[in-house]
Amino acid sequence: MLGPSPLMAGDELPVAEARARIQAALRPIADVETLPLRQALGRILAADVISPIAVPAHDNSAMDGYALHGADLQADAPTLLRALSGVTVFAGKPLAQPVGRGQCVRIMTGAVMPEGLDTVVPIELCHVGADAAGDTVTLKPGVLKPGENRRKRGEDLALGQPALRAGHLLRPADLGLLASLGVADLQVFRRLKVALFSTGNELRTLGQPLEEGCIYDSNRFSLMGALERLGLEVLDLGLVADDPVALNATLDQALAQADVVLTSGGVSMGDADYTRDLLAARGEVGFWKVAMRPGRPFAFGPLHAAAGRTAWLFALPGNPVAALVTFYAFAREALLVLAGATPRPLPVLKARSVAAIRKRPGRTEYQRGIVSLGDDGRWEVRLTGAQGAGILRSMTEANALVVLGHEQGAVAAGDEVQVSLFDGLV
Ligand code: AMP
Ligand code: MG
Repeated sequence: MLGPSPLMAGDELPVAEARARIQAALRPIADVETLPLRQALGRILAADVISPIAVPAHDNSAMDGYALHGADLQADAPTLLRALSGVTVFAGKPLAQPVGRGQCVRIMTGAVMPEGLDTVVPIELCHVGADAAGDTVTLKPGVLKPGENRRKRGEDLALGQPALRAGHLLRPADLGLLASLGVADLQVFRRLKVALFSTGNELRTLGQPLEEGCIYDSNRFSLMGALERLGLEVLDLGLVADDPVALNATLDQALAQADVVLTSGGVSMGDADYTRDLLAARGEVGFWKVAMRPGRPFAFGPLHAAAGRTAWLFALPGNPVAALVTFYAFAREALLVLAGATPRPLPVLKARSVAAIRKRPGRTEYQRGIVSLGDDGRWEVRLTGAQGAGILRSMTEANALVVLGHEQGAVAAGDEVQVSLFDGLV
């Protein structure tokens, strides 16, 4: 399935097929560590978290108002209740005394519902008064149903219910949920370590002068950002010249330490020959021509790492837009899986293309676009100018990728297209 491609020379691998091959090959890391909740943002749960308590632990009030017996509410006439005088039930301080039929008690949001009471009327619906016998609360008919404004014990999480599953990537609300359960420490996968380098004799690093014909290495910075956004640990191995000795030395360094080797450049047809031989000696890497634009050349496969481990190679094309697009098309989800996460498909939405887009069937295209809300309240998308694989500006001006599927032909102005918003991607 990996190794030499079963495709005929000149054949291109559809994106879906490339993705399926990658997913079928991956083996997630298994190393687990325990972390305090405070340090767990962006990490991936290694075990289900079962709720050790009910949340909330008691029925409680959802409003500031008066707690009452729902059965006292009159359907067709005003309801007149007697309020316990001078008593307010506050959150964290349950009421010790009984509240009889026909009575009510002032209560604050989050306070435990007094024994036998099942309904809370918000303060703004009450007419509060007094007569000779004490304080009164009057409600108009129909303003409230029995049981309203009461939060029930366990309505957020029941005791023993799985709160979060293994494979869940922890987001801010998850940390809050776990704190609400009193969970102080978590079992998470250790962070996946990704060795990153760029290849190309023409590349220079920041701070170096640019000689004639040279360019600054930009891929390392965009890819470093993409990896860090995924919560992965990055081992920056810098620039590597187009030279087998240099490449071998850098691979040694990468394979000694990392779970993944991510490279850009050097996999297109002209470069691939010595790279292919060199990598063949170190694992089972497939060199693919993927039916996509930008991004055609791509290599993937397991490499023999130190101590009998496997490291996964993702070799992206060098053109800066192609590198990022192939990262999102293939590496992003694969890295999450390797890190132990249960992948969730990225949300895709449909937007009306304001202009015609040229496209031929037989390859997937990832055009860069700006999605905005049209006058009719529906999403529309326009492309960000020149779409060359080297024009990184097309990516920085965009807020979405327009994904034109393998079979799709030309798009007419006004047609709907699929867009993948960068929020969630980048
Ligand atoms: P390659 O895939 O090595 O054939 O490179 C394709 C194109 O991308 C060439 O124009 C390279 O100069 C350019 N390129 C390769 N690597 C990088 C990089 N790290 N940063 C910016 N441009 C690059
Ligand atoms: Mg190159």
